Amino acid sequence: MTQPPTSDSFATRAIRAGQYQDLSDSHSEGLALTASYVFDDAEDAAEKFAGRRPGNVYVRFSNPTVAAFEQRMAALEQAEAAVAVASGMAAYLGVALGLLKAGDHVVLADGMFGTTTRFFQTYLKKFQVSSSIVDVRDVGEWRRQVRPNTAMFVLETPTNPLMHVADLRALSALAAEHGILTVVDNTLCTPALQNPLTLGADLVIHSAAKYIDGQGRCGGGVVVGREELVQEIGGVLRTAGPGLSPFNAWTFLKSLETLEIRMREHSRNGQILAEWLERHPAVEQVFFTGLKSHPQRELIDSQQSGPGGLVSFTIRGDQEAAWRVADHLSLISLTTNIGDTKSMITHPASTTHGRLSPEAKERSGITGNMLRLSVGLEHVDDIIADLDKALDNVTISAE
Ligand SMILES: *Cc1c(COP(=O)(O)O)cnc(C)c1O
Repeated sequence: MTQPPTSDSFATRAIRAGQYQDLSDSHSEGLALTASYVFDDAEDAAEKFAGRRPGNVYVRFSNPTVAAFEQRMAALEQAEAAVAVASGMAAYLGVALGLLKAGDHVVLADGMFGTTTRFFQTYLKKFQVSSSIVDVRDVGEWRRQVRPNTAMFVLETPTNPLMHVADLRALSALAAEHGILTVVDNTLCTPALQNPLTLGADLVIHSAAKYIDGQGRCGGGVVVGREELVQEIGGVLRTAGPGLSPFNAWTFLKSLETLEIRMREHSRNGQILAEWLERHPAVEQVFFTGLKSHPQRELIDSQQSGPGGLVSFTIRGDQEAAWRVADHLSLISLTTNIGDTKSMITHPASTTHGRLSPEAKERSGITGNMLRLSVGLEHVDDIIADLDKALDNVTISAE
């Protein structure tokens, strides 16, 4: 496989890095649907099996289409290497099995994707990996949680739905000082808006089902970072088995070609919508990393090149009023996913955060009157009109 020249341009790398071409003369990257590969001769088989010679052996170990997706992701995150997996959670599984051991301690950010928190606190606990949860914004709290056996910092920035931002430079530096690995879930920003590795993080995780796919079709995940760490994780994953399907890899490979322009438009629509919501009389508070009023404005500008498309807001009303807003939308879909071309809304307190106790919800700020929007790529006027109609309905019935 010939590698195209590297480029400083995100757009060029998103389209050209990690090209895979089969033996036909097709221009678009091929989909290699094969479970096994033919060897040149017996010696070739022996060398490849032993890992002494590069090449494909079997689908659980490698696939040319999956490899092309991995190379493209590594190029976009400015990483040495990447390993693709069946889901975002399988990426966490690989990181944990590859890099943690019994007796280790992990510091987790508050407000992470719920399943991530559950994975560490419920399942890894069974294997004697302990964890503490801290406010993602408070570097001092991270520092106070460092113990002699702390092996990893795991965080998301921004968090969702509250849009709390982690100081990636400060946390990565603190971790490095203590020989701790920093793992950043970059699903929300994607490499088009934020590159945690260039700010000091050791590994980046993505759920590819969100903005990387961008059209809500396929599940997948990826871990990117230094060659030696990715090798360790890849080894475990090839043995344990949660690899990425070649078809899904092929879909993501195509989607990455438009990632930058999609994220630009998600950000633009999100910005217009968030500013509109801030002015709406039925809206109490808006959570969006593009707003001038965001309390971490300076930090955001120093590490994100755009806000992305997630906008949360609270309404002047209770949970029932929030549900009425959700129930009176006709364009925006009611679904808990994020990152599609289609706009989607969810009521976090009764769905994604429904397991939290009422006190925990109140403490964490996930209140009953909150809604979270994943702003899509429909015309922003249509998205606003849909919300306007729904919000009016609530105001009238609340009066
Ligand atoms: C969806 C999501 C995950 C989990 O990914 P799956 O592909 O659903 O396994 C992890 N982190 C974030 C931020 C997510 O949005």
